[in-house]
Amino acid sequence: MAETILIAGGAGYIGSHAAKAVAASGRIPLVVDSLAAGHNHAVKWGPLEVADLRDTTALTAIIKAHMPVAIMHFAASIEVGIGEREPLAFYDNNVAGTISLLKAMKACDVTRLVFSSTCAVYGSAQPPLSEDMPRKPASVYGRSKAMVEEIIEDCTRAYGLEAVILRYFNACGADPDGDSGEEHDPETHLIPNALKAAAGLGDGLKVFGTDYPTPDGTCLRDYIHVSDLADAHVAALDLLAREGGLHVFNLGTGTPYSVLDVIKTIEHVVGRAPPHEFASRRAGDVPVLTANLGAAATKLGFRPKLSDLETIVSTAWAFHKKTWGV
Ligand code: UDP
Repeated sequence: MAETILIAGGAGYIGSHAAKAVAASGRIPLVVDSLAAGHNHAVKWGPLEVADLRDTTALTAIIKAHMPVAIMHFAASIEVGIGEREPLAFYDNNVAGTISLLKAMKACDVTRLVFSSTCAVYGSAQPPLSEDMPRKPASVYGRSKAMVEEIIEDCTRAYGLEAVILRYFNACGADPDGDSGEEHDPETHLIPNALKAAAGLGDGLKVFGTDYPTPDGTCLRDYIHVSDLADAHVAALDLLAREGGLHVFNLGTGTPYSVLDVIKTIEHVVGRAPPHEFASRRAGDVPVLTANLGAAATKLGFRPKLSDLETIVSTAWAFHKKTWGV
């Protein structure tokens, strides 16, 4: 009988791609999502249960009814600026939500967890960033993820939880078959905002900061295709099934690109440059984020297949063209 994997936040951007990858691996992706940020139409590969993670009673009932062998946990507030303005709501969703999920898992003897973390836990440490570097988050968002990492570590010691913590760099792109893509509201990320500008929608792109200590003065980021991230989650399930334990992996490519590199690639893919203006730095942005990837390659067999900038932008453009009707 096929195993069930509970995907908390599976109606969102990365979670929906993970649901597709879980289904492709022969397992059943059971999505649990409050639909506060996720979309009903993004749940295509298995059942949906609508629940808020903070509702431990509802979660426990869902877990008892479906008996998942493992949980993937994507459900979180992600907009860095909102975190700075509304820290209590942010910690409630990200930290209290995860505690509630862990309580429900414990009550039902589910021991395996794959957790969505972020390179924001490293704060402004000097890249390339390795998993053994200390957590020094510089935002409420980063701190909420770092706190959850520590809670997970405590639960592995106290209750025998087995976990893979995945620290994403810049998730981007869309499913190559067009089945899912990025639909945040508000959208703050570079690639969808630049594509929107190239499509002639909105007020044009603002390039935040041109005076960074980088070759072209704009920030360098390590862009990783969302379908490559999704595959890493399935590899993490396999790793937990094989050897249990607690693992932490960076997921990026190790090759950073600047904001201007992204704009050039968009011009090439779309056939016109996104109209853009140069603006001042955005609060909280660090000049360079790039991953050291040794551990993910060795232990997870992580080999990004779709994460060259051209493929990232082409898949995102194909998805947005359809959803925006352009
Ligand atoms: N960025 C930009 N204009 C935008 C959105 C982002 O210039 O409308 C820049 C941002 O300052 C950063 C990079 O693009 O240097 C990537 O930002 P994004 O929000 O996509 O991801 P983050 O690195 O913040 O997770």
